[in-house]
Amino acid sequence: MTLWYEPREILIGGTWRRTAEVLGVEDPSTGEIWSEIAAGGAAEIDEAVAAAEAALQGDWGRMPAFERGRVLMAISRKILEHTEELAFIEARDVGKPLKQARADAIAMARYFEFYAGACDKFHGETIPFLDGYTVYTLREPHGVTGHIIPWNYPMQILGRSVGAALAMGNAAVLKPAEEASLTALAFGRIAMAAGLPAGALNIVTGLGEAAGAALSGHRGIHHISFTGSVPVGQLIQAAAARNVIPVTLELGGKSPQLVFEDADLEKALPFLVNAGIQNAGQTCSASSRILVHRARYDEVVEKMAARYAQLRVGAALADLDVGPVISGKQCNMINGMLDLGKDLTLAGQGVIADDAPKGGHYVRPTLLARVNPDHRLAQEEIFGPVQVVIPFSDEDEAVKIANGTDFGLVAGVWSENGGRQMRMAKRLRAGQVFLNNYGAAGGVELPFGGIGKSGHGREKGFEALYGFSVLKTVAAHHG
Ligand code: NAD
Repeated sequence: MTLWYEPREILIGGTWRRTAEVLGVEDPSTGEIWSEIAAGGAAEIDEAVAAAEAALQGDWGRMPAFERGRVLMAISRKILEHTEELAFIEARDVGKPLKQARADAIAMARYFEFYAGACDKFHGETIPFLDGYTVYTLREPHGVTGHIIPWNYPMQILGRSVGAALAMGNAAVLKPAEEASLTALAFGRIAMAAGLPAGALNIVTGLGEAAGAALSGHRGIHHISFTGSVPVGQLIQAAAARNVIPVTLELGGKSPQLVFEDADLEKALPFLVNAGIQNAGQTCSASSRILVHRARYDEVVEKMAARYAQLRVGAALADLDVGPVISGKQCNMINGMLDLGKDLTLAGQGVIADDAPKGGHYVRPTLLARVNPDHRLAQEEIFGPVQVVIPFSDEDEAVKIANGTDFGLVAGVWSENGGRQMRMAKRLRAGQVFLNNYGAAGGVELPFGGIGKSGHGREKGFEALYGFSVLKTVAAHHG
């Protein structure tokens, strides 16, 4: 497949151009280098931040909120026109099965649609005060926002972060992950064709330690939104602290699903497994821990194992249940973690298809049973298709185990008891609790974020608009 745009170009101030150096782009399904991207660095980030600032002083900054909404809606429609191309590019770039890549493109369109409608409906308020005063608040953009995103869901994370920032009138500088920048670059073409003014969105590809570090430490940005790993999140927060700017961190997780003795297992089972193996387990909100009441423990393990045995792993374009993981490095890391589990009970495993290309980065989905909650496999984010099943005896023990990691992103509860659902929703330390579902079909309307080492700040939904704006209080004395 040839791309319909030049992937070695970056977008600065409405102009596409090349850099001196390039980086190879690997197809995780085959291990082949199939494309190249520009290796941007500090100089390009400088120019991108200046272009964003100029856009704020120019057409973009002056554009009425309802017109911003129309541009965002036009972007949404154009994304949908390109869904199949975007899905195809993402499947090759990330290694995700085509159906998931297609869903990601549609979700990106949905973010722009949602935020398009919000542009002119988000405003300040008047505040009753002393006689002789009129006091009101203005919701204003921060100014230039930096966006550093990971490789696992490039389109969805771009949509939720850049969509909300543009809706509030910020001008954005985006640094996609070096492993998967191609749909962000395609998006840049789509956004410009849909009428986004020059400089409102700038895209600089490149390595994290070069372009990413230059962006997060730049004195010209006024807010930074980062999605990625905990160690890099810590660097981003330190850089933001030096410039005293707000930061949103969406980091990792070790998210549990709790299966109580009264759970509807037929309903729960697809979610229990899918939440662990979707995107080959490379999902921040992956449910890597399944906690099961002892009364149903053997039954759940047996039924999950039966599903695992049916899972087929293969090339992204073969569109099986599970694709490859992103790189050889990630593959080695996951296998290294699995080596730690050699003494555990191997309950179930998926199968790598015979026709999976030999150079691809394939990992067999693996279900481990009777795992101690303190085991490293039950504590650390693996970011691969690996789930551990842990038994518990009662609500207190379930909560203790569920809350017993450094993370707090998502928790799922399976129980038919309404009182228990409410108790769990209150007691679980997580940014999101799903009762008798997991993930709420990815709804873009739902605020999303973590606590603890899963990060802070909220993206998605209306809530994100607070994060991407700042409140100004105006007090007029006319007495
Ligand atoms: P990563 O932290 O290695 O990279 C993320 C981004 O940061 C990339 O664009 C990378 O180029 C950039 N980066 C790397 N070093 C940098 C530096 N020194 N300064 C500035 N930027 C730098 O993460 P990853 O491996 O791409 O993604 C996996 C992680 O992301 C997992 O931990 C996962 O849980 C997390 N994640 C979280 C969410 C969420 O919403 N909470 C969503 C997706 C992924």
